[in-house]
Amino acid sequence: MIIVLLGPPGAGKGTQGERIAERLGIPKIATGDVLRDAIRNGTEQGLAAKAYMDRGDLVPDSVILGIMKDALSAPATARGAILDGVVRTVPQAEGLTSLVASLGRKVDKVLLFDIGDDELVKRLSGRTVCDKCQTPYRDREPGTTCPKCGGTLVRRPDDEPEAIRTRLAVYRAQTEPVIKWAREHDLDVREIDATGDLDDITDRAMKALDK
Ligand SMILES: [Zn+2]
Repeated sequence: MIIVLLGPPGAGKGTQGERIAERLGIPKIATGDVLRDAIRNGTEQGLAAKAYMDRGDLVPDSVILGIMKDALSAPATARGAILDGVVRTVPQAEGLTSLVASLGRKVDKVLLFDIGDDELVKRLSGRTVCDKCQTPYRDREPGTTCPKCGGTLVRRPDDEPEAIRTRLAVYRAQTEPVIKWAREHDLDVREIDATGDLDDITDRAMKALDK
C-alpha cells in the first residue's frame, strides 16, 4: 500500500509516518533521506542531484522523481511505502501518480494531517534546541540551560513565529491545492485530526487506513 502524507509544517507527519510505518511493517520514505542516500551511493540520479546542489540550485522535480522511482522499485518497498514530504506541489503530485502508475502500482491513500494555524505556531515556537549538544526540547524557554550538558537552549530561526507564518503561507499557496487536485483525481484522501496525544493520532491514522 502506497500512502502519501500531507499536512502543514509542524503537523507531526514525520513522527506519525514513522509510527504508521512501524505498525504496517513498511518503510517510510522522506525526500531528504532518499536524496542523501542516492548521493552517498553515487547513483545516476544522486550524481545529478549533487550537481544541482553544488551549484546552490534546487534539485528539480524530474531528478527527485527519478530517485523516488529507484526507491519504489526496490525490494524494500514491494509491500508498500509511506511517502513523507514527497508531494508539496500539484506538479509533484502529477509526477508521482504517473510514476507510481508506470510501476503498475497506485497511491492507495492520502493522509491529511489537519491542525489549526494557532496550534501550529504554539507547537513550533515551543521547540528549542541546545546550542551545544543539539538535543531538541519541547516547552522549554529559549535562554534556559540544557539539563544534559549545561549548554543554552535556543530557538531555530525557522521556528520563530514570524518564520512559521511564512512557512504556513507557502504551504497554503503550494500544498493546499494538492488536496483539491487529489480529490478531483479520485485519490482516497482521509483527514486526520492531528491535535492531542501522539498515540491517539496514530490510532486515528490507522483507522483512516482501515487497519
Ligand atoms: Zn545540551
